[in-house]
Amino acid sequence: MNVLIVYAHPERQSLNGALLDCAIGALEEQGHTVRVSDLYAMRWKAAADRADFPDLAEGERLRVASASARAFAAHDLTDDVRAEQEKLVWADTVILQFPLWWFTMPAILKGWVDRVYACGFAYGVGEHSDRRWGDRYGEGVMAGKRAMLVVTTGGWAEHYSPRGINGPIDDLLFPINHGILFYPGFTVLPPFVAYRVDRLDDRAFATVAAALRTRMQALGTIAPIAYRRQNDGDYRIPAMELKPGLEKPGATGFALHLD
Ligand code: FAD
Repeated sequence: MNVLIVYAHPERQSLNGALLDCAIGALEEQGHTVRVSDLYAMRWKAAADRADFPDLAEGERLRVASASARAFAAHDLTDDVRAEQEKLVWADTVILQFPLWWFTMPAILKGWVDRVYACGFAYGVGEHSDRRWGDRYGEGVMAGKRAMLVVTTGGWAEHYSPRGINGPIDDLLFPINHGILFYPGFTVLPPFVAYRVDRLDDRAFATVAAALRTRMQALGTIAPIAYRRQNDGDYRIPAMELKPGLEKPGATGFALHLD
C-alpha cells in the first residue's frame, strides 16, 4: 500500500516528530511504501493568492475557484501544488498529522488543502442534475482511497468528551473529516487522537507510541466512519437536506450525517 503522510509541525524534534517516525516505522515494517510531505520543512506556501495562477492577466480580477479550474485543466498550476496532487493520486491512504491548534489544524495545513485541492481535482467534478449533485461526499477523485487524522492535543480526553467544555472531538474534527476528506471521496477512518500530551513522560510516550503502531497495523482493515453518501438517496436534491425520518432518534447537527 502507498501511504502519504502530510505532516504539519514546525519542529521535527517534537512529540509529533517522534510519532511520525513511529508511524513510518510501523508502516514500513508491514511492507508499505511511505512518502511524507513535511510542510514546514518544505516551506510550504500557505496562502492561496494571485501567485498561484501565473497565467492570470495583469489587472484581471482573481476569482479563485475559476482561476483554479482553468489552471488545473491547462496543467498550469504551480509545481509545488502539482507535486502534492501527484502524491495524492499515488497514495492509497492519506494521513494528515498535526497538533490541534485553536481547535483545528495549523494554518499551514489548511493552506495545503486550499491550494492542492484545485477545482476540477478535489471539487467541482461530476454531473449536476435532479439525481446527482456532483461527485462529492463519498464520490470523487479520491474514491477508493482511505484517509485518517493523527492529532495531538493539550486538552484532556474528558475535555473533548460528549459533555466536555471543548466540545466533542468528533464535532471539532467533523469539518476536516467530513468536509475535507469525505467531500472529495476519501473513505474516512476514525481519527487517532493523543490527548493531554504536553507533559508526557517516557512511560506515557511509550503507551501513545504503541497505540499508534497498533493503529498503523490496522490501517487497511479498520472500519471507516459511516458517513452517508450524498447520491445514494438519503438527501433531497438540490436542497441537499437529509430526508425526514432517516436519523437516529434524537440525532441533530453533525450526527445527522452518520448512517
Ligand atoms: P511537544 O511539545 O514536542 O511535546 C509534548 C511532550 O511530549 C513533552 O513533555 C515532551 O517532553 C514529550 N515528548 C516529546 N517527544 C518525546 C519523545 N520522543 N519521547 C518521549 N516524550 C516525548 N491544545 C488543545 O487541546 N486545544 C487547542 O485548541 C490548542 N491550541 C493550541 C494552539 C497553539 C498555537 C499551540 C502552540 C498549542 C495549542 N494546544 C491546544 C496544545 C497543543 O495541541 C499541544 O501542545 C501539542 O499537541 C503537543 O504536541 P507537540 O508535538 O508540539 O508536543
